[in-house]
Amino acid sequence: THFGYQQVAENEKAKRVAGVFDSVATRYDVMNDLMSAGLHRLWKAFTIGKSGVKAGDRVLDVAGGTGDLSLAFAKRVGPSGQVWLSDINASMLGVGRDRLTDRGQIVPAVQCDAEALPFPDQYFNVVTVAFGLRNMTHKDRALAEMRRVIKPGGKVMVLEFSKVWEPVAPLYDFYSFQVIPRVGQVVTNDADSYRYLAESIRMHPDQETLKGIMEGVGFDKVEYHNLTLGVVALHIGYRF
Ligand code: SAM
Repeated sequence: THFGYQQVAENEKAKRVAGVFDSVATRYDVMNDLMSAGLHRLWKAFTIGKSGVKAGDRVLDVAGGTGDLSLAFAKRVGPSGQVWLSDINASMLGVGRDRLTDRGQIVPAVQCDAEALPFPDQYFNVVTVAFGLRNMTHKDRALAEMRRVIKPGGKVMVLEFSKVWEPVAPLYDFYSFQVIPRVGQVVTNDADSYRYLAESIRMHPDQETLKGIMEGVGFDKVEYHNLTLGVVALHIGYRF
């Protein structure tokens, strides 16, 4: 049946995502720097700046992987606050947790699917998801879950690849589909995972579509900021 087919396709996607991140976990950070020429650090710094996170806040980093955002937030919230690192993938979560511990930050690390968060309603001030939403099977469910766990006055921040400014699109496509898989092959011996990455970026909803999805799951206000000509966008959903 159509639904049977859809179920298989969804399971396939989840399995594929798991395979990709199992495969790249140990080389993930170095590939991030290489592929984005270090730009991912600026995109994350922008997100941290916009978060308004302060001492005592509770922050959830969804699909937090190797923990860049969690690390920055842990320093900000201090001993009276909480940062939770979460990810569906044990390999990525393990690398993230070890990295934070090595830097003197002990945070709870929870293996969970963003589509079913194991937290009570209205628990967090800020929820972030950086370069993770694109991998999720039901983006609307994941976003509804993130909205559920923020307090009124809180926000959900989605940092993700988006639709690049049209005049530079051919150049960007060449880079994504020709250059990145080759670099991936050399550094991780795994061109396929990086081909998946380029495809998943192309399939991801553009700025306005994602804004619509976020409004659709109940955010009271959604705004976005284009970064690096729309290579990446930061969407912020507010709950009043
Ligand atoms: N946030 C980190 C960063 O910005 O460097 C890691 C991003 S990494 C590209 C994407 C992460 O999303 C992976 O660690 C993957 O395991 C995680 N992920 C994929 N699907 C997920 C889901 N349904 N729920 C939670 N995490 C998921």
